[in-house]
Amino acid sequence: MKVVIIDPGHGGNDPGAVNQGSFEKTYNLAIAKKIQAYLQNNYEVKVLMTRSSDTTVSLKERTDFANNQKADFFLSIHQNSGGGEGFESYVYPNVGAETKKMQNTIHARTAEVMRKYGARDRGKKQANFHVLRETKMPAVLLEVLFIDNVANLALLNRTDFQNEVSAAIATGVAEGLSLKQKQQEPKNLFIAIAGAFEQRKNAEARVQFLADKKISAFIDEVVINNKKYYRVQAGAFQKRENAETHIVKIRALGIKDAYVMVKAEGGSVPEPPKPIPPSGLTIQGPTLLLADELERFVSKINPNAPRLAALYVQIGQVYGIRGDVAYAQAVHETGYFRFQGSVKASQNNFAGIGATGKEEAATFKTPEVGVLAHIQHLYAYSSTEALPKEYPLVDPRFNLVQRGSAKTWNQLNGKWAVPGTNYSNMILGIYKSMLNDAKGTIEQRINQIDKQLKEI
Ligand SMILES: [Zn+2]
Repeated sequence: MKVVIIDPGHGGNDPGAVNQGSFEKTYNLAIAKKIQAYLQNNYEVKVLMTRSSDTTVSLKERTDFANNQKADFFLSIHQNSGGGEGFESYVYPNVGAETKKMQNTIHARTAEVMRKYGARDRGKKQANFHVLRETKMPAVLLEVLFIDNVANLALLNRTDFQNEVSAAIATGVAEGLSLKQKQQEPKNLFIAIAGAFEQRKNAEARVQFLADKKISAFIDEVVINNKKYYRVQAGAFQKRENAETHIVKIRALGIKDAYVMVKAEGGSVPEPPKPIPPSGLTIQGPTLLLADELERFVSKINPNAPRLAALYVQIGQVYGIRGDVAYAQAVHETGYFRFQGSVKASQNNFAGIGATGKEEAATFKTPEVGVLAHIQHLYAYSSTEALPKEYPLVDPRFNLVQRGSAKTWNQLNGKWAVPGTNYSNMILGIYKSMLNDAKGTIEQRINQIDKQLKEI
């Protein structure tokens, strides 16, 4: 890589030319730093400074430094004074073509900016300056503007002028040295793909599977060769290694078709849609409330309710389903078993199975079969396992369910009831009331017991 030395003239004890409170050294350093930044940001080049702060550096130190670095080019930045106006460039007398070329490109680029700002081009000159003479590499000294000229000083104090003139000088250096322009590296995103599916429901099942393992993912729809695919995106990373680490974790779960996809900057990465909340109470789990507690709650509203709670508790236990919450679902679906909707009490259908609006709800021979069908339907949603052997399959819609697609009651929203965004809230609201009702009864009983204990 080529090495360029930028030399901000003067500094420290040596202010250079002075115009009242304005010091040459300050402008030299400001412009030199901007040239350095521009070169480094845009070209494959190493740029070193003879000083990068307000320090005293001798002329010998400057040229020794450049020679030791075996630099390819030396550029000294100064401001003029002495009653003139405009810019000029210098090289050592009788230099070779290489140095002349550098002076030409830098001078030409600088002249464009000076013309724009109305400053004079004073020409390409030669001089026996130390930094031009003692440097072993091509060297150019630029007198940017006159610090003792009011209009020139006003320009030097403008940020836009400083930026433009610095960029122009840097471009001239780059042209003269034929510096390679930096490839603007596209910022890639490394995306962990945990499978791609032709069927959306399979992608949904994969998202759910990952959610259960505490890995958030969402479905990214893509069209490849006119065919739609549902890609499961399980994280995007700025570093490939992080994406690879994540993929290893996903593969360890048995997802062998996981891979890292590279997405170039500007390529559209869809915003993750709101994920189905995997949080909340699971459908599978133990039944907490007793059949008596469940029925006492319902009987306060419907004293004639059929006695189904024991069936929910018992069958729920066989399937590992929370029978008390399933019972709360039945309470919601049947309106406390008053059956005032389209499903009649004689149908023994306590969860509206098959009642889609188009189709009529299923009918079950006995209340026990009805409860069994309800629990089996919940099992279809919450489990991917085979049915327990204890009972025959009675749920007519068991095989229409995307197995394992709802592990929590919240996830039944939009599935059991469409659109049903509030469906789980209704069920869980009833269940909460049941819990509080049971708690109240138990607290009463504890108070009675405490009272009794005190009386002994
Ligand atoms: Zn100077």
